Amino acid sequence: MRSFDIDAIRADFPILHQEVKGKPLVYLDNAATTQKPQAVIDALSRYYSTINSNVHRGAHTLSDLATREFEEARHSVQRFINARSSNEIIWTRGTTESINLVAHSYGRAFLKPGDDIIISAMEHHSNIVPWQLVAQQTGANLKVIPVTDNAELEMAAFDALLSDNTKLVSLVHVSNALGTINPVKTVIEKAHRAGAVVLLDGAQATPHWSVDVQELGCDFYAFSGHKVYGPTGIGVLYGKAELLDKMQPYQSGGEMIEKVSFDGTTFNALPYKFEAGTPNIAGAIGLAAAIEYLNQFDRQQLANHEHSLLTATLERAAADPTIKLIGRAADKAGVFSFLLEGTHPHDLGTLLDQQGVAVRTGHHCAMPIMDQYAIPGTVRASFAFYNTLEEVDRFFTALEKSKTFLL
Ligand code: PMP
Repeated sequence: MRSFDIDAIRADFPILHQEVKGKPLVYLDNAATTQKPQAVIDALSRYYSTINSNVHRGAHTLSDLATREFEEARHSVQRFINARSSNEIIWTRGTTESINLVAHSYGRAFLKPGDDIIISAMEHHSNIVPWQLVAQQTGANLKVIPVTDNAELEMAAFDALLSDNTKLVSLVHVSNALGTINPVKTVIEKAHRAGAVVLLDGAQATPHWSVDVQELGCDFYAFSGHKVYGPTGIGVLYGKAELLDKMQPYQSGGEMIEKVSFDGTTFNALPYKFEAGTPNIAGAIGLAAAIEYLNQFDRQQLANHEHSLLTATLERAAADPTIKLIGRAADKAGVFSFLLEGTHPHDLGTLLDQQGVAVRTGHHCAMPIMDQYAIPGTVRASFAFYNTLEEVDRFFTALEKSKTFLL
């Protein structure tokens, strides 16, 4: 196991060592996407320079090698989230596509008028809009668990929403806009008792700690490669085999079939039934390299470091009356979402960028919760384990300087 040495870790991420606008980059937009260690960049380059071929075509050596690495990557993901079988790991383009797959192949097929789908008020748009469409298409109702002013789920309201009609609960594990870590295990247990299946949007949880889908007991779990230090364009849907087996394909074409004739077509076995067309082979291999990179560490140590950055940030913010923290959940991941009194998030974001500090501004694809808090959006600094306390300092120094222009 590799020890936690921040300088050595930072040396693994080439992009961090550059200047932006003439200032050393402070990258605090990790909830949008994480940077890639050299090991991931090398894996992509090695794939394209040595074994690039189409997979599952078996005709020649390179195709065999590519297929083997591609399928080995699936096993890496299986171990990463502790799925029972690699057949339960479906490659997608990302969390958005994973949720759409479930909405299409489970929601549209199994929901009917009068059924209830439950989501929460703090969802990312990618866990709202697919369910709105499914509700329109099936006649099911979309119900929303309210969120408190402290950015926590109102669990009593969730209890009240649950009924025999509840067929599906789809919840964000960690909120990208607020940092809230939801009590997903309790939600899953309650939903299961009501007879509903549960999908978790794990886009912001998988980057921070080891998720165990069997321990959680969720039915589906979605996440994105690019948020766990892997490439863009690759993501994962985990689903329990018994559910995936009874679902119809999402997209259709090559790879996902067993036999095609004009009399009818039969579908391939899991997981290929859900993987139409040439997959993102390099992306899968790159994601496996990211997982291998993370596996060198005690992930708890990485999480502790991120937490110390968050704690330091929240302490500094609490001492500044011009900062309004958005998202005060007791259980919170490394997301600092805030407003500077009397200023617009975009203006502050621009001034921070001019000082080399990269943050995200806006509604963070979570407009309903911004509406609830009656704000146009926030400024969001989000941490990864390669960030440092010195960067937190530089962020606050940049913030102070920005204030001289804004306040
Ligand atoms: N859910 C959450 C909580 C997210 O943070 C994101 C990415 N911002 C998504 C879903 C969508 O992920 P992707 O764009 O990679 O599909």
